[in-house]
Amino acid sequence: MELLEGVVRPYAWGSRTAIASLQGRPTPSAHPEAELWFGAHPAAPAQCVRDTAVEQNSSDSNLLSVIREDPAHELGAAVLGRFGERLPFLLKILAAEEPLSLQAHPTLAQADEGFARENALGLALDAPERNYRDPWHKPELVVAVTQFDALAGFRPPTRTVELFRELQVPALDPYLGLLAGQADRDGLRALFTTWLTLPDKAITTLVTAVLEGAVAVLESGADTFTDELRTLLELGEMYPGDPGVLASLLLNRVRLNPGESLYLPAGSLHAYLHGTAVEIMANSDNVLRGGLTPKHIDVPELLRVLDFTPTSDDELLPTVRTLGAERIYLTPAAEFRLSRIELDGTGLLLSQSISFDMPGPQMLAVLGGTIEVRAATGDTVSVAAGSALWLADGDPDVVVRASSSRATFVRVLVPVSQVAAPGQVPAVPGSAGAGPDAPE
Ligand SMILES: [Zn+2]
Repeated sequence: MELLEGVVRPYAWGSRTAIASLQGRPTPSAHPEAELWFGAHPAAPAQCVRDTAVEQNSSDSNLLSVIREDPAHELGAAVLGRFGERLPFLLKILAAEEPLSLQAHPTLAQADEGFARENALGLALDAPERNYRDPWHKPELVVAVTQFDALAGFRPPTRTVELFRELQVPALDPYLGLLAGQADRDGLRALFTTWLTLPDKAITTLVTAVLEGAVAVLESGADTFTDELRTLLELGEMYPGDPGVLASLLLNRVRLNPGESLYLPAGSLHAYLHGTAVEIMANSDNVLRGGLTPKHIDVPELLRVLDFTPTSDDELLPTVRTLGAERIYLTPAAEFRLSRIELDGTGLLLSQSISFDMPGPQMLAVLGGTIEVRAATGDTVSVAAGSALWLADGDPDVVVRASSSRATFVRVLVPVSQVAAPGQVPAVPGSAGAGPDAPE
């Protein structure tokens, strides 16, 4: 067991209150705090919190070095066999005060090919024009901690045509005609490609006309697409002349309540807008951006990886399976399985404790209250909100109790007992304690 302190990432879009108040620090913080990372990513590995009076090797204490020292003990044979000597997932708490860039992530095959291609071109790993920084895909799942707003997946085009009609912007008519005449993935691809490749002047003119249309609709009191149009205006104010502002009109505007989740498979275009969420992803940095950012945008490469299949917003929400106190968010990702657990220190309303005996490495991150984790050997660790605990494959089984009246935490494991070949949907997780499959 290792008590972990996350690493704060101070990106400009971050909140000055969300992560600080979660951890009980004064607010507002001195700088925006966008993400809190709990993982073994080389850029920001979680720090191990150890009693330096007892432990000698405190200089070496981060999760990356702990895993490198003894991967067989930390990760276990099944994870090693499947993913090598690296932690396959990265857990973050994300606190968005402002919208993030419009983006999508590649499939495993696209990432592998793109990484090799950019290596062959001699692009440095940290070059700003680099798209592929590793050969891995990056499926991701967010679970809302507060109300959480996002744009995700292409809305069914017939509905988008209704939105265009409501705007009553003559400059939009040719595009409305295009989509109405081909209300499917090909129509979406044609329209999106046209917008992202229009000359700057034409885009600025079109964005301005559409924003004026949106203001007129909102002032008229029509309320069919209020959230969509407010988001459009906000993005237009931040990024005037950016084709990503128009692209936002094509996506589902999703609002998650606390505990609700959104899964983004490869090729799914998305932008997180506002709110605090837990984010679990495959441990990769491969992002292809489509706008709403001053960062590098590679339109041809984005078009290669985007999946234009229309999705309704409820298709984006994973199925949740409840096993006792645990709510498991089911996704096809082989790198992670995340669940959310709420315990009651008094045991009057909810379970007081839960025991874990799944194989492989696990991470617990506390979102509210304090938990006490007791290993079968008798070792006990207390984990407060905003901190996490690492449980190695070789560690003894544990029992987790709420030591406050209410405690909420997430649990991440690598679903080794349900690992499927890339692209295959693994079986629904079975009961706790199932043995791992033989490594491939
Ligand atoms: Zn993303």
